[in-house]
Amino acid sequence: MKLGDVLDTLMAAAARAVRADAVAVLLLEGERLTAAARRGLPDDWPLEESPPDRETLAGQVVRVEEGHPEVPLPPGFAASLCIPMALPARPLGVLRVYRREGPFSPAEEEYLLALSSLGAVAIQAAQETAELERIEAAKSRFIHVATHELRSPIAVAQSLVRNVVKGYAGPLTAQQKDLFARISARLDFLEHLVNDLLDLAASRAPELAEEECAVAVNASVGRAALLLMPRAEEKGVNLVFRPCCEELAVMATEEGLDRIFVNLIENGIKYTPPGGTVTVTMGREEGEVWVKVSDTGIGIPPEAMPHLFEEFYRAPNARAVNAVGTGLGLTIVRELVERYRGRIEVESEVGKGTTFTVTFPAVGPPTCGLS
Ligand code: ADP
Repeated sequence: MKLGDVLDTLMAAAARAVRADAVAVLLLEGERLTAAARRGLPDDWPLEESPPDRETLAGQVVRVEEGHPEVPLPPGFAASLCIPMALPARPLGVLRVYRREGPFSPAEEEYLLALSSLGAVAIQAAQETAELERIEAAKSRFIHVATHELRSPIAVAQSLVRNVVKGYAGPLTAQQKDLFARISARLDFLEHLVNDLLDLAASRAPELAEEECAVAVNASVGRAALLLMPRAEEKGVNLVFRPCCEELAVMATEEGLDRIFVNLIENGIKYTPPGGTVTVTMGREEGEVWVKVSDTGIGIPPEAMPHLFEEFYRAPNARAVNAVGTGLGLTIVRELVERYRGRIEVESEVGKGTTFTVTFPAVGPPTCGLS
């Protein structure tokens, strides 16, 4: 849960339990208490640290009633309670409740103390989650910048090596040809890895993502199929694309949705031997759009199923067929699918084939990605 949601839930629970007319939470930022959330207080009422808050931070409940020498109450309010919010090892902040009429009873005070202890645990969890997300986003930004810088030298090296292999730099001996072909295969893998790391970083850093719109699914799958058709032909795999009868749309980014289908179709081609078929179908059912990518390939062993979406995981039979892969594609696919509020399912039988089904809430009509 996000910190804002935790604070809203806490304030609502406190207001309901003791019939408070207003509630506020102040949290420690370094040494200072700062306003974190408020409800029911006049908009122009400043919410800031006051002298008795230090007592509250030390663990004391402070009662404020009209005429308090150090703490004025907002106009129209008669009483306030300042409840400490603390973890065993450190104070976190102050929960303030306000009432227009009558003071708070000792039983209400007890109840609020218990509630604020629970609230403190939830706030700490939300703060730690936010910190982890911040670190994750910083890591993603770093990977994005580093891999972006690696992309062009790899592409240049790859094209130079290809030219040498093609004989543009003069005839090669068989041994030289073999060595350059191996360098080229390694560069292929590096290129894949860099592209996958870039995609992964993009899928994890929300600020790198474009704004979502209603993307046309037929067109997105069509682009992916068109892009991969030459690869399927080159390998002798039959790629069949059956667009849906009606215009389907899901909330996503065009680039993200394309990436999902490119990854799934690319895997289908990669893990299907020559002569096999990869079929892409789609449809709409009960307010959802589904896309299925089925292949007649090597299949996925049951013991690999639980690990498929883990970073860098590759099943032993995939490694055995020597297909270039990084084990990042499905991680990226799942993160994107979940970002667009969808789900992904897989059915597979070793030696027979695999079907990946992605499902998203349907929206419409499409506003982008029609080309
Ligand atoms: P990779 O780069 O290895 O293809 P992915 O993350 O895309 O990485 O997929 C992870 C693993 O899932 C693959 O290494 C392979 O073992 C398995 N896999 C994915 N798609 C298929 C498929 N269509 N058929 C068989 N195995 C697949």
